[in-house]
Amino acid sequence: MRFEISKVLDAIEGRVCTDPSLARAVVDLAEVIRWQDLDGGRPASLLRLGMVIDALSRQLEEDSVPVYAIVHRALLSDADLTSNERMVVRRWADDGLVEVLDQPGDRMLEVADLLGLPVLSRVRFDGLGGRWPWLGQAGRVLAPVPGAGGPVFIAHVGGGQTPASGSRSPAGAKLLARQWRCPEPGCALFGGGGGGGAFADLARVDRAPAGQPPPTLRNGVPSCPRHGARLGDAGPRPRTAVLAVRIGGLVRRRFVLTETQPVLVGRAPEATGGVVLGQWLNDEARRWISRNHVRFELRVGEVIVTDTSTNGSGVRPGGSMAEPDRIPLAPQQSRVLGEGDLVELYPGVQIGRADKVTSDAKFSPTSVMAEAPTMAMRLPRP
Ligand SMILES: [Zn+2]
Repeated sequence: MRFEISKVLDAIEGRVCTDPSLARAVVDLAEVIRWQDLDGGRPASLLRLGMVIDALSRQLEEDSVPVYAIVHRALLSDADLTSNERMVVRRWADDGLVEVLDQPGDRMLEVADLLGLPVLSRVRFDGLGGRWPWLGQAGRVLAPVPGAGGPVFIAHVGGGQTPASGSRSPAGAKLLARQWRCPEPGCALFGGGGGGGAFADLARVDRAPAGQPPPTLRNGVPSCPRHGARLGDAGPRPRTAVLAVRIGGLVRRRFVLTETQPVLVGRAPEATGGVVLGQWLNDEARRWISRNHVRFELRVGEVIVTDTSTNGSGVRPGGSMAEPDRIPLAPQQSRVLGEGDLVELYPGVQIGRADKVTSDAKFSPTSVMAEAPTMAMRLPRP
């Protein structure tokens, strides 16, 4: 049982991040873990985060949807969590996957404002609409409540159940155009301030500046939300492009391309940061698609695809599924990807810019809770 739970927590770990290009909603972890009515279980449970992530995935009709979690520091020693859960949250904190704060205050709303993300919360935020006008827009604040097949969302304002993203606020756009350094040694969010222990360099490779969270504004000064320190400006943030993988008509995951880091996509790329498709492929697709099938690069804002496979791939200009339109891409051949173009590794396995790729089949998401023991999944009848 405990083993299964830790597998679920590992799966959830893949769905928490502070990367502004990937996070799809903001949550306050201290709030989520106490939504006891979601499963009728313990007073606090980290598995509820998984249930809420699944609900978000169902609503957005996409797999592998990550959330931006704000974590009150008190939660790291919350006796209502199991020691295993506390350990997991500490690990997320150390790896900079979540934002740990002494006093979260309005940070959840600030992040939502800067990044233009919806908020998943049962708090009503009455009277804050002056400071955050988008609070009044449909889909920007949704409360996860118990439903027949897991949590569903209800809106405090404007009706609807679908989370809506806005655009980054002007302040957010400005902050996210730069990269930042925290003077605190080993800062997990804005590292590079010196020190940081043996794994600091490793962590830095994993967390490219492009994926840095938005700083907090203290009296207009960009500051570290964790340490309160004024952040140093470390130059322009590298440009990014967000790509999405669609398999069998469903968007399975998104990934970020930066000008410094090409990304390999295939059945099972060896390189770190590679996008592994194996788990979503049927036997025929698995035989056809190479371990490293295509490489994506971002050069001066243009996405370039290079076939690195044995069998070749193709490009569908403007996303056209008409066979005569398909442009073959032979092994080792490169091509600049047009705005709506899709790279096709195999029929039904496509990659393109995230804003141009949507799910077009009936959606049944891969649950992060798939490994959860039945005890944790005891859902109340609506
Ligand atoms: Zn810091």
